[in-house]
Formats: sequence, structure tokens, C-alpha cells
Amino acid sequence: MKTFTIIGGGVAGASIAYHLAEFGHSVTIYDRFDEGQATTASAGIICPWVSQRRNKKWYRLVQEGARYYPEFIDELENLTEQTTGYKRNGAINLFKDERIQQLAYERIAAKQDDSPEMGDVRKMTKDEVKQMHPHLTTAYPAVFVEGGGQINGHDLLNALKVGIQMHGGKWIQQDVHPEHCEGTVIYTAGAWATEIDQEPAVRHQRAELLHLSLDETSTHPNVPIVMGLGPMYIVETGSNQYAIGTTHEDTTDFSTTPSEENQQYLHTEAERYFPDSHVQDQSIAVGLRPFTRDNLPFIGFVQENIFAVNGLGSTGLTVGPVIGREVAAI
Ligand SMILES: Cc1cc2nc3c(=O)[nH]c(=O)nc-3n(C[C@H](O)[C@H](O)[C@H](O)COP(=O)(O)OP(=O)(O)OC[C@H]3O[C@@H](n4cnc5c(N)ncnc54)[C@H](O)[C@@H]3O)c2cc1C
Repeated sequence: MKTFTIIGGGVAGASIAYHLAEFGHSVTIYDRFDEGQATTASAGIICPWVSQRRNKKWYRLVQEGARYYPEFIDELENLTEQTTGYKRNGAINLFKDERIQQLAYERIAAKQDDSPEMGDVRKMTKDEVKQMHPHLTTAYPAVFVEGGGQINGHDLLNALKVGIQMHGGKWIQQDVHPEHCEGTVIYTAGAWATEIDQEPAVRHQRAELLHLSLDETSTHPNVPIVMGLGPMYIVETGSNQYAIGTTHEDTTDFSTTPSEENQQYLHTEAERYFPDSHVQDQSIAVGLRPFTRDNLPFIGFVQENIFAVNGLGSTGLTVGPVIGREVAAI
């Protein structure tokens, strides 16, 4: 049995702590739950196969992340009797017209052999989109990916916290510095890693997500996630409730005050995707996504006794659990 101190209780630190505690190690995780914590603000989409990003190492990581989710959530929810909001209702990927839809279909379907967990991949007409997601616009054709899913970042962290404690670990809500820690330190401070002078260099992007409700009498629960045009996506958060995002703002500022301009922009986007509904803004979630210099996650020792995991970027919810499993195994 070894002793580990983990600094930062977002999805990176909590997943590592959970797996280490499960393996029987002595684990203490410190988290001070800064405003802007990325994990809680996240949309929680788990659907890496539709990305156009070409980096093969990154793709292998996100692919493994999505593959591990069902087994991991099954184990975590059974152990803790907590729900994580994990559901796999599929993903509707919208495209501007039928030509682009066809190209995207070929690109996405080509990944199926290597990723059977994607499930069925098929083209959808505009009418089929409307049948599957009655709130959604009929303006665009789509490609459906059956294995697309989502997780609630806040609920996942709660379940991990309970799981860590059930495996004998400690979760302490407190600020801590690596110099004052016992055993091997695992530093998973997200955007706040800039507070100590150490590799990897981390920068962050401020992202806003608009939570909204649709003022309607009919409900259509359990609809798929929607990957819209460009970087826009929509996830269901409750009955007739959705979150749409995000904005992307490179900044050195840690402010989490919502911007009226961004809210207006996201509201207008929501009206574009839900043209027949009355969109009511509920709240804005602001999160700080951590990136490294090369936009790839950093996982490794940075000093003899300090192991860092950071830079999970836009897909940290997807890769957090599998990184937890692999880092604990190392
Ligand atoms: C709006 C938004 C939408 C997103 N959507 C998705 C998505 O759909 N799918 C997806 O896969 N990913 C998504 N992401 C990305 C994902 O949320 C992040 O990559 C991931 O949450 C980063 O996790 P982390 O543990 O590295 O950092 P964080 O979750 O930010 O956690 C870091 C924690 O460390 C704590 N900490 C820092 N320093 C100390 C210290 N000295 N002592 C104690 N505690 C400390 C902080 O308080 C914080 O709680 C999204 C992110 C945002 C912001």
C-alpha cells in the first residue's frame, strides 16, 4: 500500500483518486471547488467519434474514454447507489446540406470497425430529425450516432466522492500546496495550475453554457444530444430543459461573471435550433477549460515526487475516467 495526495477534485483528480483507493492505496484528495471548475460547468458530452481532429494519439485516448464509460459508470453507480446522469440516447449531428451530410457520414462511419461502441451510424432526413427530437429545427439533415452519450459532471463528482470514501479514501475541501503533502503528490489543479511554477505550462479558455427551458405543454424526454453547426451543441438537462454552448475565450482572467453579450448570442442560437418554442433563459454556467501548449493532455511525473495530469481541454469528461484507471495502474 502506498500513500497518495491528490490536489484538485475535478474529474481528473477524482477519477485517479477513486481508482487508487479501489486498488487499496492510502488516498487523500484536496479540493477547494473554485468557481469556474470545468467539471461542474461541463456539458458532459461523450461522443468523440464525430470530431474532425486528426491527432491519432488524442483520438485513441478519447476513443478509450468513451469505451470505458458504460463499465465504469455501472460499477460506480452500483457501489455508491448514486446516479451520475449518464445516458446514451445517441447523438444527432446536424449538417448544412445533404452534400456535407454525405461526406460526414462517410468520415464517421469509417470509424465504426475500430469502435463498435459507436453502435449504429446512419443518415437522417430533416423529417427524421424532427421525429426523433420534436423540439429541434427541420432546417438541417443529420447523421445519427447511436452510442453518443452524456454525463452530469456535478453528479459524477458526487458519486466519485462517495466511492472514494467507501474505498477508504479521504476527501477534504481545502486549499493545499504540493510542498505540504504526504506521499506521492498527484497534481490535477486544472486552470489553477498556473499558481505554482511547474511543468506543464497550462493556459485556459473561458466557456459559457446557457441553461434554458422551453415553454411548452408537451414534453419529449430522453432526446439525443445535438451536435449543431460549427462548435454549437445542445444537451437535455431535464424535461423541456436544455443547455446550449459554448463560447470559447482565451484569457488569463479567472473571472466567472457571465457576459450579457455571450448570453444574448447563445439565446439567439437557441432560438435558431428551437424555432417553434419559446426559449426562457434559466442560468449561465461558466467554466475554465485547461489546455497545455500542444493542446494535448499532459500525464506524467514533473518532479520525483509529483505526478501531473492536466490540459484535458474540451474532452475532459470523456477521458477523465480512463485516465484515472491508467494513472492508478502506473
Ligand atoms: C462549459 C464547458 C463545457 C464542456 N463540455 C464538455 C463536454 O461536453 N464533454 C467533455 O468531455 N468535456 C467537456 N468539457 C471539458 C471538461 O469539463 C474539462 O476538460 C475537465 O472538467 C477538466 O477537469 P480537471 O479535473 O482537469 O479540472 P477542473 O474540473 O477545473 O478541476 C480542477 C479542481 O482543482 C481545484 N484546485 C486547484 N488548485 C487547488 C489547490 N491548490 N488545492 C485544492 N484544490 C485545488 C479547483 O478548485 C478545481 O475544483 C467542458 C468544459 C467546459 C468549461
